[in-house]
Amino acid sequence: MACLLYTGYEEKIRPYIDLIDSLRELGLDKDLPLPSIAVIGDQSSGKSSVLEMLSEVSLPRGTGIVTRCPLELKLKKGEKGLPWEGQLRYRDSSVTLNSPHEVEKEIKIAQEHLAGITGISSELISLQVESSCAPNLTMIDLPGIIRVPIGDQPQDIGSTIKNLINSYIRKEETIILVVIPCNVDIATTEALKMAQEADPKGERTLGVLTKPDLVDYDTEKEILKIINNQMVPLKKGYMLIKCRGQHDLLANTSLASALEKETEFFNKNIHFRPLLDKKMASFQHLSTRLTSELVVQIRKCLPGIHEKIGSKINEITKQFNEMGGTIPEDTKARVHILTSKILNYCDELTNLAMGDYKKKYSSEVKLHHFAREKFAEWYKKLDGAKIKLDEGAMNMVKHHEKHSKGRELPGFTNYRVFEAIIRDQIQELLEPSLEMMNEFSAKVETVCNTLALLHFSGLPVLVNEIQAKIAELCHKMESEAEQMIRTNFKMEGMVFAPDEMYSYRLMKFQSLSQQMGRSSLRNPNLDVQTMVVHLQTYYEIAIDRLIQMVPMVLRYYLLQELSAQMKVELAQLLFHSKDVDALLHEDDDTAAKRRALKVSLDWLTKARTLLMSY
Ligand code: GDP
Ligand code: MG
Repeated sequence: MACLLYTGYEEKIRPYIDLIDSLRELGLDKDLPLPSIAVIGDQSSGKSSVLEMLSEVSLPRGTGIVTRCPLELKLKKGEKGLPWEGQLRYRDSSVTLNSPHEVEKEIKIAQEHLAGITGISSELISLQVESSCAPNLTMIDLPGIIRVPIGDQPQDIGSTIKNLINSYIRKEETIILVVIPCNVDIATTEALKMAQEADPKGERTLGVLTKPDLVDYDTEKEILKIINNQMVPLKKGYMLIKCRGQHDLLANTSLASALEKETEFFNKNIHFRPLLDKKMASFQHLSTRLTSELVVQIRKCLPGIHEKIGSKINEITKQFNEMGGTIPEDTKARVHILTSKILNYCDELTNLAMGDYKKKYSSEVKLHHFAREKFAEWYKKLDGAKIKLDEGAMNMVKHHEKHSKGRELPGFTNYRVFEAIIRDQIQELLEPSLEMMNEFSAKVETVCNTLALLHFSGLPVLVNEIQAKIAELCHKMESEAEQMIRTNFKMEGMVFAPDEMYSYRLMKFQSLSQQMGRSSLRNPNLDVQTMVVHLQTYYEIAIDRLIQMVPMVLRYYLLQELSAQMKVELAQLLFHSKDVDALLHEDDDTAAKRRALKVSLDWLTKARTLLMSY
């Protein structure tokens, strides 16, 4: 067999093509576009013929849509003397081929499998050919563009094909090989239009003109204009090639002799012959050109690929870890993982309760921030609060004056009246403190639940178990806190302050009032005036206690005690739980997602290792 090509082969370039092939094999192009050569053309433009001549493999031919799935042609130059070897892969199938003649039949079977008898599928069929005559090249053959559906083809087949083609050629990494027959008006070719839309600057499009032997007499000059970039300019330009014509096919002309005939044709044609010297015509030059274009493209894309793989690995690792990493099969390891998950959760709760934000917590979770805000509101509400001399209080003072006052001079107020008024007013703060406690406890419960979901995501049994404990404990701590707050309010009912403190505050209050000339205190009734002074003095002392007491109770019970008791509860859960398996039961979705993440992570890591060696 006469070998076409192979000046283009260099030891140095094969590894680059191999690398991208391996990355594609790993499934990387689903997430990261990889450099490739996509071959597009209108129907009957000569696409299959071009690929055949490059690969020296007979591809399915015929009228109508023959290529119905993207076909990846991986051509590898094998050692001289070694036999031809082929491998066809699609979905989960892998077929070994021993001769180029088997290719056509097997591709047809594969296409029927993936796309039915007449349909189009975007699933890739991959054909790897290793032969001493093959160039080092990977190309993707795409279905030919058709304008009108015929026979029982679906009405939207044209747009389905265009979408499929676009999905390849739109990627910046793709080199577009547009096959255009010389014997049609270049302006009317749909493929070139599509290439121009996908690559408006024509930077990654290479035009391949076929059928130069079919142009009308003396129109070669027109073809030369195209090739010389005078019609539709492309940065990569055009190349001219001659494939097997219908006549050659009927005469069973071999691919090898078709190559010889091509050289002969160009040599004989005075218009086209100079193109041979300029390496702008013939399969020989096309194949060399494509290989080097592909390698240049790969080199250009490698840093980007490296970077994208790195960030993809980070992203997936994060998701994977968030899902709790791997759940092992072995019982001992399972107990270990359960224990460590629970301990981690406890640590996290302790950190939050202590306000020890070593990790980057979201503001939602920062309990002390929430507490600080609530306590500030509480302070604002209480600080500077004035005793309210409402009607009830005034009536009490007046009632005493009228009915119980004896020989006392004005200003000598009744202590019991004072106590009664102050008790009432302080008790009014009980409800707001309990409200704050409820809000606080609800927040703590939410945060604990959120953290449990994060720590034990995908383990619904464990999450339920822990959330039940959280609810129980929050409830318990809340009632203890409530008890404590109520007791404190009861104690406030006793009306107490150290004498020295009271005297000091009273004098300070009186002198301040005088300085500021507080009009509210200047009641014409001296009894009322004196009562107000005492009430306000004492009220401020009591309020100072409450400003501190309620937040301290909440912090103690709902943060410190809760996290401490949660630890005990969870330790008990571990000790008493005989059924580790039940606790570690994963829901199906999570198990599947975890497996999928693991697979992605494995192949990305492989891809990175592979890239590192370049
Ligand atoms: P596809 O539909 O784009 O894959 O086109 P094919 O490769 O099947 O080619 C369509 C027809 O054009 C076939 O009969 C080929 O033999 C013929 N053909 C392709 N290239 C050439 C060429 O360079 N010269 C001649 N004479 N015929 C060609
Ligand atoms: Mg074809």
